[in-house]
This record gives sequence, structure tokens and C-alpha cells, in this order.
Amino acid sequence: MLHLPTVICLSFILNVIIGIFFLSVYKYKDQSAFLLFSLACFSFATAEVLASIRIYIDIPFVTHYLANIFIILSPLLIIIGLIKYKNIQNISLMPLYCILGFSAFFLLAIYPYDAAKMLTSLIIAGLFIYSGYLIKSMSFVAKIHKKALTISFLVHSLVMILQVAVLSIPVLSRNMVDITAPLQAILISHLILATLSALLLPFLLFSNTEYTLSNLANTDSLTQLFNRRGFFNKAKESLNHLSNKGKSVSIIILDIDFFKRVNDEYGHDTGDHAIKWIAQNIKEQFMNAGISARIGGEEFAILLPDYTLSAARESAEYLRENISQHPFYYQGAYINLSVSAGISSTMNGRMSIKDLLSLADKRLYLAKETGRDKVVTLDERQLLLQN
Ligand code: GH3
Ligand code: MG
Ligand code: MG
Repeated sequence: MLHLPTVICLSFILNVIIGIFFLSVYKYKDQSAFLLFSLACFSFATAEVLASIRIYIDIPFVTHYLANIFIILSPLLIIIGLIKYKNIQNISLMPLYCILGFSAFFLLAIYPYDAAKMLTSLIIAGLFIYSGYLIKSMSFVAKIHKKALTISFLVHSLVMILQVAVLSIPVLSRNMVDITAPLQAILISHLILATLSALLLPFLLFSNTEYTLSNLANTDSLTQLFNRRGFFNKAKESLNHLSNKGKSVSIIILDIDFFKRVNDEYGHDTGDHAIKWIAQNIKEQFMNAGISARIGGEEFAILLPDYTLSAARESAEYLRENISQHPFYYQGAYINLSVSAGISSTMNGRMSIKDLLSLADKRLYLAKETGRDKVVTLDERQLLLQN
């Protein structure tokens, strides 16, 4: 069996380190959730110290009452921190403050007795169940960490309920029963699980932040499509995946016609809304089909895996017609917009994204040169031959 004083020391050290880590994150990010997580770790470490000095000093108010309050405070602070971290508006913090008030009041009456231990265990079991539920219902990207933390909270609550059951054995049984060994095992599990949760929490939060940051870096803030960088990243991934499968892939580049006039006539704000409207049209048509991006001011790119040149042309024609036949409406004005598009296509990943884009761009230029509001899939020479 694990040596209890060693487990207490290790758990204390880890909680202090994680507490200091959260505190420094709070100083850097100025986000109150991190201060609460840090206080939760310090609260748990303080409870450990207060409970451990029972063997040296006989002041039950400090070693029992305050220790219990700090133990309850720790998951409470985690819960409030999680609510603040996710900015959840519809959960009131009042019941949580009431739990603290209730615990402080009732424990004051019974703290020297085993009943205090039972009540504390029941309260924290409830708090851990709620923490597990909160984490489970929140959207985090790191699914494994989320699952591990939820399980850790739920197992922890079971351990606390087990503690209540073990503590009630001598009360229910007529004979003297020695429960020291199971209680010690439960205490060790409690310390390990609390420390494990404290260790998992930063992993969960930071993998989420990392994902949000990388999303921000790859997303165009006006249209919420990918930006140029996001497009290249996603398109490369997709092309690598498809090149092994012998499938074709097409790229459409699309540019709004005479857009300067829209800005000049209606103002930049209307221009921005027109760009958003075009993006919306693109999203609606290619929602699940490909990777759509705003790669320049009023220029868009759509990568269509598994689309032949003619399939891509059909889709682009449909989009072009839709845009030119339905005027864009904004602040009392109907504005006729049109787009020109160039399309390129490759099989088996023979061309790189850069080459595909540059070929589509040349064809877009031809569409502009030859009248706008059209889709071009051929080169200049092929166009001449066709005419
Ligand atoms: P063309 O048919 O040849 O494409 O003509 P155009 O006027 O659209 O010319 P071009 O594509 O070169 O011009 C793009 C214009 O789009 C220039 C700039 O004023 C405008 N623009 C670029 N980004 C934005 C933006 O984010 N918001 C707004 N409102 N306008 C933008
Ligand atoms: Mg343009
Ligand atoms: Mg342009």
C-alpha cells in the first residue's frame, strides 16, 4: 500500500506548483477563472496541511473545521472558475455560495465528530458530480482530456460516498469495527484523484485555447470563411489525402466584378456587407462539398475534392447565375452584383495547390478580359480555338 505521508507531501507539492502556475497565467491573461483555479489548488493544499497537523496540535476548530471548509472550497472554486472560463450566463452562482454558507454553518455545530466528515464527504461528492456534469456538457476540443477529467470527478464522488458508507459502519454495527485501513485507502485515493484533476485541468484548458488561437489565425473575421493561410493549410491536407486515391480535385477562384464601384457609390460599409453576402452564397452552395476561403479583398477560393473540371464548372455556373439574378439588398438599396470565376483541375495530385491556384487565376483573368460575369475553365489558346 502507498505510504500516506509521502502521498500527502507529493499531493501538497503538486497542488502548490499547479496553483502557482495558474496564478502566473492569471497575471498574464487577467482572466478571473485562472485566479479561481489557482485558489482551488491552494485551498486543497491548505486543507491537507491543516488536516495533517492533527497529530501535533489539538485545536479541532483549525484541524477539523477549517480543514473541512477548505476541502469543500476547492471543488466549489473549480466549478465557479469553469463557469467563468466558459462565460456561461445562465448558471446562477447563488446556490454555490449557499452550499458554502450551509457547510460553514452546520459544520460549526458538529466539527469534532465523525458526522462532520460524513457531511463534508457528501457535499464534495455532490460537487464532484456537478463538476463532472459541467465538464461533460461543455465543448472542449481535447476530447480525451475532457473524458479523463469527467471520469476522475465521477470516480472521486464515488470514493467520497464510499467514505460515508465506511464511516457509518461503526454507527450501524453493534460490534467495534476497525475501519482505519479502509479509511486510509479512501484518503489516499482522494488525494490522488484531487491531484490528478488539478493536473488534467490545465491540459484541457490550454488545448482548448491553442485550438481557438489556431482557428483565429486561419479564419477570416469578416466572412468566417478560411483566410488565405487557412485555405493553404486545409487545401494541402486535402490534396495529400486525395493524391493517394486517384481522385480529381478542382479549384474555383472567384472575384466580384467592378467592386470598386460598389465601394465608391454605396460606401465601404455596404461593400463589406456585399462581401459577406457573397460569402454566404458560397457557404450555402458548398457547405459540405469543399474548402471555402476569402483569399483576398473580394476574392474567394473554393477547393472541391472529388470534383472533375466539368462538375466544378457546373457548380460555379450555378453560383454565378444565382448571384447575378438576385440583387443584394442592404439599407434600402438593391445592388446588382456579379462574379467572374476561373477553374483549374488535377488528377492524382499531379499539380500543387500553388500551381492549381495560379492556373485558376489565369482563367479568372481571362473571364475578366472577355466580359466578366462568366466562368472560364479553358486556357487562352483553347478559348481562341473554341471561338
Ligand atoms: P474587377 O471586375 O476587375 O475585379 O474590378 P474591381 O473593381 O472589382 O477591381 P479589383 O478586384 O481590383 O478591386 C478590388 C476592390 O475591392 C479594391 C478595394 O477597394 C475593394 N476591397 C478590397 N477589400 C475590401 C474589403 O474588405 N471591404 C471593402 N468594402 N472593399 C474592399
Ligand atoms: Mg473585383
Ligand atoms: Mg479583386
